[in-house]
Amino acid sequence: MDLYGNQIDKLVEEFSSLPGIGHKSAQRLAFHIINMPKDKVKELTNAIEDARNNVHYCKECNTFTDGELCPVCADKKRDHSIIMVVENPRDMAAYERTGKFDGVYHVLHGTISPMLGVGPEDIKLRELMVRLAGDIKEVIIATNKNLEGDATATYISKLVKPTGIKVSRIASGVPVGGNLEYIDEVTLLRALDGRIDM
Ligand code: ZN
Repeated sequence: MDLYGNQIDKLVEEFSSLPGIGHKSAQRLAFHIINMPKDKVKELTNAIEDARNNVHYCKECNTFTDGELCPVCADKKRDHSIIMVVENPRDMAAYERTGKFDGVYHVLHGTISPMLGVGPEDIKLRELMVRLAGDIKEVIIATNKNLEGDATATYISKLVKPTGIKVSRIASGVPVGGNLEYIDEVTLLRALDGRIDM
């Protein structure tokens, strides 16, 4: 039944296609936007367009940034010889929120998953190996504790070991199957402090 006309349906459909947004939430957002002042809607659409057009991968760690380097990589006070490898920028943000890790990161943008047809060449592993040619003391693998995260950690450890660089994995304080981004800071720090050599 076409209650409100095509334009609202189209808006609801677009919102529904976003992650975590069901039909009801999409409807609520659509009606909210219809009721917003037009200049606020313009601000919102501009913000979306600007972010999409200007944000790209950090040249060093591959997280999202609108500069050449992200603020972490650009910070000379951070210890650039310790690299924490994470699956995505959200996991990096989770560790940054703890404020206690003073190394740098490497964002893989995924995990190796034979089931989903994602191989080592589909994530940012080659870029990690390039970085390891520099002055690196330790690689801390902070992929999630699930099948793909474990497989990816093992793969990376096998790649890094021949270089003589220390490889460790965050401890099992992080629950199996739990995504880092939803885990509290105390648990994240405990997992980091208790990291074990691979
Ligand atoms: Zn960076």
